[in-house]
Amino acid sequence: MATSMKTLGAVATFEVRNPANGAMVGRYPIHRQAEVDDAVAIAHEAGNWWAALGFTERRQRLDAWRAEIAQGRDELARIIHAEMGKPVSDAKLEIAMALEHLRWAAHNAERVLGRRRVRSSLLTVNHAAEVEYRPFGVVGVIGPWNYPVFTPLGSVSFALAAGNAVVFKPSEYTPGVGVWLADAFARTTPERPVLQVVTGLGETGNALCRSKVGKIGFTGSTATGKKVMAACAENLTPVLMECGGKDALIVDADADLDAAAEAAVWGGLSNAGQTCLGVERVYVHTEVYDAFVTKLVALASTIDAGRPESKIGPITMPKQLDVIRRHLEDAITRGARVLLGGIDTVPGQFVQPTILAEVPDDATAITEETFGPTLTVTRVRDMDEAIEKVNAGAFGLGGTVFSRHSGRAIADRIRAGGVSINSFVTHATIPTLPLGGVGDSGFGRVHGPDGLAEFAYAKATTRQLFPSPLPLTTFRRTTRIDAVADRLVALLHARSR
Ligand code: NDP
Repeated sequence: MATSMKTLGAVATFEVRNPANGAMVGRYPIHRQAEVDDAVAIAHEAGNWWAALGFTERRQRLDAWRAEIAQGRDELARIIHAEMGKPVSDAKLEIAMALEHLRWAAHNAERVLGRRRVRSSLLTVNHAAEVEYRPFGVVGVIGPWNYPVFTPLGSVSFALAAGNAVVFKPSEYTPGVGVWLADAFARTTPERPVLQVVTGLGETGNALCRSKVGKIGFTGSTATGKKVMAACAENLTPVLMECGGKDALIVDADADLDAAAEAAVWGGLSNAGQTCLGVERVYVHTEVYDAFVTKLVALASTIDAGRPESKIGPITMPKQLDVIRRHLEDAITRGARVLLGGIDTVPGQFVQPTILAEVPDDATAITEETFGPTLTVTRVRDMDEAIEKVNAGAFGLGGTVFSRHSGRAIADRIRAGGVSINSFVTHATIPTLPLGGVGDSGFGRVHGPDGLAEFAYAKATTRQLFPSPLPLTTFRRTTRIDAVADRLVALLHARSR
């Protein structure tokens, strides 16, 4: 049984090109609605089989898949590098982080989702009550290209661990990564196509939304997320929305400035700034602003793009270059100071690290996702002003705070799905923690117990143990029973203040 739908007769194809040099690295079928529907139909049968294996057998198979990915990590990292451009060592780090979450999902699914007894109430004391979390059957996963293993596996691994079959539509920029992952899965679970890949452009993703999947796990931009929700609304298909961000890093007066500058540089420039949780804005207490900026610029000056040994790669999507240029132009035209880089440093598909200061609050470099190796750095009079500016935007994905004494107090006031104190993005790497956003960054969670529950529905079951001494839900109810029930209500609730 094929895991990718390449055998189902799609005629049209699309090319994948290396963003660093334009070389062709692959050609894949464009799967249309009929082929996506076929994949989902096959997946339903595979999903029944997979669910019936139970938690223990699924854990063993997911462990085998994890080992297969780990053994093939060099090859997989090279495919990531060729398709979307990030350095091979960063690709391997991404794979390592994804494996941690895969392991956690496989080993904790039964504890989080398995059947368990819960307490009944005084009025239902004659019933046993149980809750369990059942798979949807088939989950459709739509993934982006920027972390083409870590991000989709946040949905794929958890959906599989919960007992679903998965039909995965990778980004048109990284289909080879998706096919590799599904082929690796098929080597360890050859009996049924539990994980299939459909390839194509946005239309293929749209077809998956309109197919008979039980849920869509979407990761991508906010604009596409809205289209996905609209398509899913037609069949009332539930959706998980992991969308864009405009995360900020806050530097308090008592922060370790070296550590904060290093986090800002890594958080803003790694993966060429193409990170949903990437640092795009930095707010710095006025007392340490000058010292911090000196360190920030010095560190960022050591990073460049465009050479084979460079620590950051190209901008993956050609159209993103226009967005980056537009944001820089808008900010500079309106008075921003260029501390490093600038518009002139956008040659070909590479963008050199750029740092802007004194950017107006309503400039697009502050309000919209730039998705390039750019940072805005802003002086604030105190942490109240920093928090106000951080929370002013429409996104609410993540955040970073550097402070020796007030980190927790500042973090508590940031409106975001996760915050890391005195480090960048750690909350996304700890398997027990949920990851997701609020506002324009979406809703629902991957990772941790919430990430498992996202791909299952709660099912409640009761079993009568003995007839009720107080039969309430019957027309045989007498005035005496009503009076007893009434007294109970008074006892239980009327004095609750
Ligand atoms: P896009 O929104 O462009 O695409 C995401 C996925 O949706 C791709 O597979 C894409 O296919 C598909 N798609 C496009 N149009 C449709 C449609 N009409 N219906 C269904 N699916 C469709 O995002 P990018 O791939 O450019 O990824 C970058 C974005 O992802 C950034 O905004 C980033 O912040 C966000 N992101 C969020 C994360 C989070 O955890 N919140 C993590 C990682 C990234 P195709 O590529 O073929 O167009």
